[in-house]
Amino acid sequence: DLSRVYGEGETAVHALRGVSLDVERGKLTAVMGPSGSGKSTLMHLLAALDRPTGGYVTVAGTRLGQLSDTEVTLLRREHIGFIFQFFNLLPMLTAEENIVLPLSLAGTKPDKGFFDDLLDKVGLADRRSHRPSELSGGQQQRVAIARALVSRPSVVFADEPTGNLDSKTGGEILELLRNSVQDYGQTLVMVTHDARAAATADRILFLADGLIVRELGADADEHAVLTAIEEISLT
Ligand code: ADP
Repeated sequence: DLSRVYGEGETAVHALRGVSLDVERGKLTAVMGPSGSGKSTLMHLLAALDRPTGGYVTVAGTRLGQLSDTEVTLLRREHIGFIFQFFNLLPMLTAEENIVLPLSLAGTKPDKGFFDDLLDKVGLADRRSHRPSELSGGQQQRVAIARALVSRPSVVFADEPTGNLDSKTGGEILELLRNSVQDYGQTLVMVTHDARAAATADRILFLADGLIVRELGADADEHAVLTAIEEISLT
């Protein structure tokens, strides 16, 4: 029953108006909806980047609302990965340093076998020592994806991960994210405008005006997704 109100009084914006959902482990959940429907707000609340006005979020058995800021930071480090539209890499760190940063902060290191395999899978094995400014947009997003996956978090959230990429590169990134669910059993929740990408999801949630108004299952094809989008924008 999550709600989020920005501002107060007459200018208050009700970005989420009572959203309830369970995210299924090891599956890809896609979130779609028109601009302004509350997708980013929902992702930020689920990932403990923001606090709800009403309702609550539970991650890996822990209810977020009861935690102090430090406890939230620690929970995020262990259980949550986030992939942003604009990559959010640290410019002075190399690709490898950016990727292992969540673990460095926690005082640990990745298992070498897993790390090498991850770098191979995201196609960065020969770009380890490059800085973000020396990488293309697609490569920077690959770094961000590896950073989100490296701690093997309980759940990864991706907020329009291809929104800033050309369609070919975007397609490759979506495939990579899909593979992380298949290869690692990664639980992934992804906001996307790409009907074809959403059709590969195990579940598709449609938001409109701060509410979940529609849901499709694993059997939905691209046509079904497009039809749902059209119906939602007409109502
Ligand atoms: P989406 O991701 O679907 O485009 P958002 O969650 O970004 O939607 O926004 C939902 C609504 O909340 C929009 O009307 C937006 O203008 C408003 N909103 C988002 N962030 C803020 C903020 N920090 N302050 C005020 N209004 C906001």
